Amino acid sequence: MKTAIAGYPRIGGRRELKFATEAYFAGKIRCEELEETGKQIRRENWKTLKDAGIDFIPSGDFSFYDLMLDTACMVGAIDSQYRYPGASDLDIRFTMARGRQEHECDLPALPLRKWFTTNYHFIVPHISDDTHFSLTGTGPLEAWKEARDLGIITRPTVIGPFTFLTLASFSGDRTLANSLSSLTAVYVSLLNLLHQEGVSVIQIEEPALALDLNEEAVRHFAQCYREILQSPSRPAIHLQVSFGDVRDAYDAITRLPFEAVGLDFIEGKKNIELLTQKPLLPGTALIAGVISGRNIWKADKGATEHLLEVIKRLCPEVIVGTSCSLLHVPVSLDGETRLDAKIRDKLSFAKEKLDELVFFASREYTAAHGTTSANITRETRQILPDTSETTRTPSRSDRRKIQDKRFCFPQLPATTIGSFPQTHELRMLRAQKRRHEITEEAYDKSIRQMIQECISFQEEIGLDVLVHGEFERTDMVEFFSDGLEGFVYTSAGWVQSYGTRCVKPPIIADDVRRKRSLTVETAVYAQSLSKKPVKGMLTGPVTILNWSFPREDISRADICFQIARALRDEVLDLEANGISIIQIDEAALREKLPLRAEDWRSDYLDWAIPAFRLTHAQVRPETQIHTHMCYSEFSDIIGEIDAMDADVISFEASRSHLSILESLAASNFQTAVGPGVWDIHSPRIPTVEEFVSTISALPSFAGGIWINPDCGLKTRGNREARESLRNMMEAVKRVRQK
Ligand code: GLN
Ligand code: ZN
Repeated sequence: MKTAIAGYPRIGGRRELKFATEAYFAGKIRCEELEETGKQIRRENWKTLKDAGIDFIPSGDFSFYDLMLDTACMVGAIDSQYRYPGASDLDIRFTMARGRQEHECDLPALPLRKWFTTNYHFIVPHISDDTHFSLTGTGPLEAWKEARDLGIITRPTVIGPFTFLTLASFSGDRTLANSLSSLTAVYVSLLNLLHQEGVSVIQIEEPALALDLNEEAVRHFAQCYREILQSPSRPAIHLQVSFGDVRDAYDAITRLPFEAVGLDFIEGKKNIELLTQKPLLPGTALIAGVISGRNIWKADKGATEHLLEVIKRLCPEVIVGTSCSLLHVPVSLDGETRLDAKIRDKLSFAKEKLDELVFFASREYTAAHGTTSANITRETRQILPDTSETTRTPSRSDRRKIQDKRFCFPQLPATTIGSFPQTHELRMLRAQKRRHEITEEAYDKSIRQMIQECISFQEEIGLDVLVHGEFERTDMVEFFSDGLEGFVYTSAGWVQSYGTRCVKPPIIADDVRRKRSLTVETAVYAQSLSKKPVKGMLTGPVTILNWSFPREDISRADICFQIARALRDEVLDLEANGISIIQIDEAALREKLPLRAEDWRSDYLDWAIPAFRLTHAQVRPETQIHTHMCYSEFSDIIGEIDAMDADVISFEASRSHLSILESLAASNFQTAVGPGVWDIHSPRIPTVEEFVSTISALPSFAGGIWINPDCGLKTRGNREARESLRNMMEAVKRVRQK
């Protein structure tokens, strides 16, 4: 069998792209140098893929920022404001991605959104009445030529028109329906050009086919690809669908003469069933995505061989592939010398996955890649919680009375989400500690000074519930997993999150238990500095799970309950040490909601919500539990969010405006709500008047309203953060008087 991969990481083995791009942003290197770094990374990747013996090697999967953004630029979907005088192609791209504030020029960035259920964020293209699609770039062709000149024949890849428009935002009269045919025409001319230049095969990625699609959407998809496939002069087309199964579009796919269709057999749970019910057209090969592009374990040998056997019985021509682009796993294990050999042997990053593909395609056993067995196989006690373990008593309304008496907050109590700006000074301090240039004691002392200063600032402006500022944490997950047994760290397991931002998710390799108290000392110290309550601050079990690479021998539900029990111990420890309000952040709860509505509950919410409840169910009635979620796109799961049974929830609302508030009010949401009144993702400082009008416009809620920013402040500058908070508090005071 042949092998194909959908895409390869583009940050470089040592994050070269990040450093070069940031140097370019800072004006330290020229555009040509940045381009050169890109070229080197591409060359190195192609060579790696070729040496590994991959048959379909991708090109065009590289990007200086994001492929959706590149696609927008390729088809002419660039708002005219971004074409400012003197801007190069790359500058236009970076401006669309990051905005630009200089002299007279004040261009907002396009929004970022999560790419399906991954932790990668793409740039959301904007289609307005002024958007006229035309082929304004030939990126895939140039990439293909660049590889060819190195003697490597590749399969260029592009994001397809259906996915592009499904994820785009529209204004004016524009819709997907009235934009698709003109966009399809642009793809037809691209394919024409590729064909003329000698490209024999192209991959078109259409992950939007893994979403819930109605009949009209499927009709649009089919119409678009009929036109593309009918084009007389085109390369062979490999349709690639990752992140789920194609249950709605499968029938349409089987009627279209693709040369190959790539399906995800890791996350696409219905794909086998679909193939069993109806074969692909004769002449359409199947690219079987049996190697996970989402997790870092070697594939289970027996299970994968069995899966391939089943697939081969259903399709005459099978190519062995990855479930999705390898962008979502770290580059290679080469630098991981510090990992325990027992764990390392079970891991497979992007580079190692190439060997796995070749192994399963050729069935030639070699010691290097032959020892594939499932990750952890030790006996784990799995104890599912019963309802008493996940139910807090008394009821929320009874608790509210007790808590009201205890805290006596004014109307519209005000707080912040947790972190304060991570200043240059703080980063330097951390670097010094890493390099052992300062002692632990000196480090702790400096952190304590920052906490002290942070608390006195909050007292001065008059917040009601304070935070310690989270100066001791680099990351919401790493900090916690460090104090928990069962987590393993890589030295360089970086994965791109967006643009130049990379994350290094920990690996859950064993049963999770609390090794020691995680936050008690800091929380107690911070509380000692004020008479007002200072929140204990934890990351919730679902978020810790979602931002790690999970083991695969037990279910995600089981892992999540293990983390939840460890956190429960911490919650009770905080309470026992006099902390009266504890916030348990679930920043990433919404993001792993399954793509298909019919799977939301059974595959996810039915365990995720109880796991959260387990962390706080045993606290006393007078202890107040807060939670925070970063996105407010939860109007479809309001009941479940309320069932987390927190006393107070804060969430983002300043960008999504009032729609979520109306749905919450209409569904008689019982948790007290803190809809973010300040968009902390923007450096703008809102005025007192703006805050007054935002706050005055808030509808009333059964559980009451809190005033807060819409997320932590760690990415903001000190001055803007403090001025904004001061304005927010001034506004709160004015509204209270009214
Ligand atoms: N408590 C965290 C902070 O304030 C929450 C971060 C987040 O929601 N992403 O930084
Ligand atoms: Zn947040």
